Amino acid sequence: MVSSSQPQAAYLHIPFCRRRCFYCDFPISVVGDFKPLRDRPDSPPEPSNGRNSPQIGEYVVALAQEIAILGDRLRQWGDRRPLATVFFGGGTPSLLAPEQVDTLLQTLDRHLGIAADAEISMELDPGTFDRPWLAGFLAAGVNRISLGVQAFQPELLAVCGRSHGVAEITQAVEHLNAAGVQNWSLDLISGLPHQSIAQWQDSLTQAIALNPAHISVYDLIVEPQTAFDRRYQPGDRPLPSDQQTAQMYRLAAQTLAAAGFEHYEVSNYARPGWQCRHNRTYWENRPYYGLGMGATSYVGGQRFGRPRTRSAYYDWLAAGAIEPPTEPPTPADQLAETLMLGLRLAEGVDLGQLRQTFGAEAIAQVLAAVDRFGAAGWVVRSGDRLALSNPDGLLFSNQILTAIFQAIDP
Ligand code: SF4
Repeated sequence: MVSSSQPQAAYLHIPFCRRRCFYCDFPISVVGDFKPLRDRPDSPPEPSNGRNSPQIGEYVVALAQEIAILGDRLRQWGDRRPLATVFFGGGTPSLLAPEQVDTLLQTLDRHLGIAADAEISMELDPGTFDRPWLAGFLAAGVNRISLGVQAFQPELLAVCGRSHGVAEITQAVEHLNAAGVQNWSLDLISGLPHQSIAQWQDSLTQAIALNPAHISVYDLIVEPQTAFDRRYQPGDRPLPSDQQTAQMYRLAAQTLAAAGFEHYEVSNYARPGWQCRHNRTYWENRPYYGLGMGATSYVGGQRFGRPRTRSAYYDWLAAGAIEPPTEPPTPADQLAETLMLGLRLAEGVDLGQLRQTFGAEAIAQVLAAVDRFGAAGWVVRSGDRLALSNPDGLLFSNQILTAIFQAIDP
């Protein structure tokens, strides 16, 4: 029987990069010319940008195996809905060869099914792909590109430890334009060390000039055990102050709105009709498969994360890729999660639907908790919808969500 909780979205984690960015704590391995010598004393030099690395080939075989195991289980349960969205994230998926992308998509189609009109997104980093490589991705079925740019100033790219410069960004966009790719997104980061408001404005202006359909704007978070964590203390220079990062957020909201982008989620802007369907799965708290090392699935109301190193992931696959039973979340947890994700969207959440699922009393508690933010104009109630205002409600969403969580689960 087809159940409405059966995922129609799949995320594939590709855990390889040319270089570890100084702010990144993702589970990835460095391949190619930036790989530290101490990690490859006996191995031959790898291709300069890490493409065709033997570890990648080995990993693709394992990932295809995980997809096949999942497909077998779904066949036994007689429960399968074709995927409406697929997302190759990482890491740097553009280090995959087009044939490897083709293999993974064919394996997904064979075992899970991919809908004819599916959105198939792939993250690409400047400097890791050329025109034939991109043409191969598109021929394999990729129809949406997310380009990791982060900044347009050489000095800020160097501060971040990015593996590319500004010339590679320009070249990457030329490749996208030459291939006729319209559905593409560009990522930027605000709040970087040494970043000035003028530089941020310049990055926004340059991003708009490249004419992407979608722009993601992330505020830097200094994660534990990253190079940034060792170098910078939050609240101290050269990190921008809280007031400056708030100013950057408002500047992005104003500048991108003036350029015709809808601010549809805390960090995401799209031209009308070009929102990311896959990422909406997360914000709407719908189920998804997370496949590959370190990825998390959300199926049947439960989340399950895979091992975060390749060797542990391979061991887990060899043992049958069994997901251990987990404690089902409490209704309070489910409500908190639904609000935490749903209030990220500009349209907010449907209170009628929430009352049906979680009961009128719980929703009354939520409304009482956000009441004081209404006076500041951070929360907007329109009919039976509850949303955060743009930009200040979205900017201060953490404070609002904290108050909600305390009310639901004191
Ligand atoms: S490219 Fe992305 S995943 Fe890779 S190290 Fe940089 S931030 Fe992390």
